[in-house]
Amino acid sequence: MARRAPRKRSTQRLDRANLPPMEEVFAPYRALFDEQGFEALCEAFKRPLPPTCWVHEGRVGTEWVAERLERDGYGPQRASWVPGALTLSREASLGRRFEYRAGLIHTQEAASMLPPIALNPQPGELVLDLCAAPGGKSAQLSRLMKGRGTLVVNDLSFARLSALRATQERLGLTNMVLCARDGARLLKDHPPCFDKVLVDAPCSCEGTIRKKGRWSFTGERGDFRAVLHATQVRLLLNALKLTKEGGRVVYSTCTLDPLENEAVVEEALRRFEAEEGASAALEPCAWEGFEAAEGLTSWEERSFRAEMTRCVRVYPQHNDTGGFFIASLKVVSQPREGLNREGLLARGWKSTAELPQADTAPLFAWTEEVKGLPLSIYEGLSFIQNSRRSASVVAEELLVPPTKVEVSGLPIFHTKGRLPHFTTAAGLKWAHLATRQVIELESTQEVDAFYRGELLSAEGRGVERGDVFVRYLGRGIGCGFCFVGEEGSERAGELIMSSLYPKALLLTAHSSAFEGVTQ
Ligand code: SAM
Repeated sequence: MARRAPRKRSTQRLDRANLPPMEEVFAPYRALFDEQGFEALCEAFKRPLPPTCWVHEGRVGTEWVAERLERDGYGPQRASWVPGALTLSREASLGRRFEYRAGLIHTQEAASMLPPIALNPQPGELVLDLCAAPGGKSAQLSRLMKGRGTLVVNDLSFARLSALRATQERLGLTNMVLCARDGARLLKDHPPCFDKVLVDAPCSCEGTIRKKGRWSFTGERGDFRAVLHATQVRLLLNALKLTKEGGRVVYSTCTLDPLENEAVVEEALRRFEAEEGASAALEPCAWEGFEAAEGLTSWEERSFRAEMTRCVRVYPQHNDTGGFFIASLKVVSQPREGLNREGLLARGWKSTAELPQADTAPLFAWTEEVKGLPLSIYEGLSFIQNSRRSASVVAEELLVPPTKVEVSGLPIFHTKGRLPHFTTAAGLKWAHLATRQVIELESTQEVDAFYRGELLSAEGRGVERGDVFVRYLGRGIGCGFCFVGEEGSERAGELIMSSLYPKALLLTAHSSAFEGVTQ
């Protein structure tokens, strides 16, 4: 049998210090700019990206976070094009900070926040994120939907989606269903059913060089890009087919390459028209205070429809972001009739009533009697037992597609072990409303000790033995367990709280969740 030649590695990773000159890297696009513009592009790509985040406005106001970051010397500025987005003026380990751990912010590159904004999903809609991992945009979509409706989160790689579970628990997201399929074949031959679909396609990632300080690239414009182009067309075409008439598809990449951008949109639209007898129209995209270039109407030997100018090319020199491309498409006519909720259920989609149900009796008792929380916190949520270890909540209207999926409910109650108890996700989401068994930490030192998994005294804090919610500045930061120190031990007879903060996320001995703060 003939042996296959080993596959030539088409990518190489480079660190910032060893990057080739930007003028060389972006030379293929020189013709898109005048001399000054090209110089500005290359200079901007040489600079590291400023840290950016968006605020979970369901939990806290943007001003509150901005003031804290200002006080700590990070000079936050509002990014006017995304509500709740902040750009910092100096490097910051935002992922270590209290605001991040408490699920009050999420870190995401500023230009990468635009595709979900362009998609504009609404609470209650059926939305698909076709290439979702690691899931920053999925989190943003879920927040824009206010946790209502259904967000189907798909990626070819399930392993790459695993990071999203931690994000979901931190931010308290309740409307996601995860699946790992080739997005070009997901729900193949299924009638149109989604209100909105995001295709944040795999690409050559040229625009992320500022963020990563390295880059995967071929150095030449060969097969690698042609293969990507073909995959991107298949993904966008499937997205268009699955979208109901009147619905919207947003196609985005983090590359400047027209072959992966305008040429993909052109070819997918052509095939949508030719193969489906359907049509979609490019919609204008613009955001307040955001400078961007128009999409191209030709590139090398290709020409594109005139409306391609409605696409947005994001260059780093304009808004101090990474490079991006965004096309927003409205499905104008779709000969196949779209399915509503009843149609979907008849076609094998499941409602939450068909999922394994959780026993709510102990959960409700703990909610009211132990924590003094009103049962109204569960309004609009269904309780499911999607693993032996925990009961989860999901939006009650959630629909589960007829493909292999994980219903990614928000785990709120540990059901395995000696006693049931609330999860950290429940603590982050509801501790601010609890009236019993809740400890308010009083200093940054105490919070750091909690995040390091250390014991803290619970004396005089109005709690008894057993589970407690833990708060700081009135915000939930997790759960603890109170017990009395054993006879003969150093803390005999003292009421002590041990931290139940997830082991995998504990702070190391000398780090702090309050970088730059002395109090
Ligand atoms: N939207 C993501 C976010 O905001 O975190 C980033 C997506 S990344 C640009 C592209 C993703 O496409 C990768 O996670 C990759 O695993 C996935 N991918 C590649 N080929 C795919 C395919 N055929 N179907 C679905 N996903 C695919």
